[in-house]
Amino acid sequence: MSSELIESVESIIVDVPIKRVHKFSATSITTQAILLIRIRTRNGVVGIGESTTPGGPWWLGESVESMKLMIDSYFSPALIGSDALQIPEVLRKLNKIAALNSFAKAGIEMALFDIKGKVFNAPLHQLLGGLARESVKTCWPLAIGDIDRDVAEAEHLLSENLAQEFKIKMGYREPKEDVAFACSLASALLSRGATVRVDINQAWDEGTAHRWLPVMIDAGVSVIEQPVQGWNHEAMARITGKYSAQVLADESVCTLQDALKIGSLRFADAFALKAMKSGGILAAQKIAGIAEAAGVPCFAGCFLEASIGSSAMVSLACALPNATYGSEQIGPIWLKEEIVEDPVEIRDNRIWVKHGPGLGVTLSEEKLQRFRRR
Ligand SMILES: [Mg+2]
Repeated sequence: MSSELIESVESIIVDVPIKRVHKFSATSITTQAILLIRIRTRNGVVGIGESTTPGGPWWLGESVESMKLMIDSYFSPALIGSDALQIPEVLRKLNKIAALNSFAKAGIEMALFDIKGKVFNAPLHQLLGGLARESVKTCWPLAIGDIDRDVAEAEHLLSENLAQEFKIKMGYREPKEDVAFACSLASALLSRGATVRVDINQAWDEGTAHRWLPVMIDAGVSVIEQPVQGWNHEAMARITGKYSAQVLADESVCTLQDALKIGSLRFADAFALKAMKSGGILAAQKIAGIAEAAGVPCFAGCFLEASIGSSAMVSLACALPNATYGSEQIGPIWLKEEIVEDPVEIRDNRIWVKHGPGLGVTLSEEKLQRFRRR
């Protein structure tokens, strides 16, 4: 039986500029901080992983700084000498060392999959069972928070055939202003032939959701993402099915146990699948399987990763029969510059799977040196 014993683990923070400001419900960024994880085996095989949070620790408590500390101090000593090919066994070890820390664990697992793909000369989608599709439809998050600039960005993406569907990021204004903004932007987008979703990023309580969702639905919004707190599955269930728009869960589905509740509580019409929030690709694949059993489709969500994490998620989405809700894996063209030589491709309003061994991307040493945090 072949083995690939791990010789070294590096964690490197890079700060990559983005093309424009990006507003989330809790923070606003102009640079994306990324933690790169480079694992080398004694046979000289090198795997790259990426752990990226959306502009800091607000989403699930981890940041690039906290992940680097966890990896350097706790995970790395356990990884050295372990067999990189036995991914579930390595994850079992990491889970024994530390609870939670799903983003850090996902980045490590990604590097292990990159190693496995290189050892067996197989792309990640083959390791996950094979392709259900070659590409996923782009859903682009509009997050500047300025009507004219957001519309200009959408017009550019529409004219370049990069995206036809848009997601308005909300939650950083008072509900009344937030909804007025979303409705104005939605009507501008709809008049240009686009379709429109909104992501409230759990900024509202249930009463606020019932007050304002009908207004946005009347304005033509077709999908409502995470209007209330992630833990409030019951409120999500009461909202789902009540209105003509579809409800998409994101913060509400992180674990396998959350996915089970999608079946029993029907708290969403679809949900965002993300390797980072669930502790890796294998966990995300299991979550998608539970959802498939419940007849619920998934959306390939993202944390605005560069092409390393994007390739991992697009490979997973293309290998899943029920990943039919599109993808927001737009990091490769949202970043001002990519950190790999061969970024994930976005064209024809779709994001395309990579076919090279492992993740199918090569880290640019020049970019790594330039963007590395000193
Ligand atoms: Mg979301």
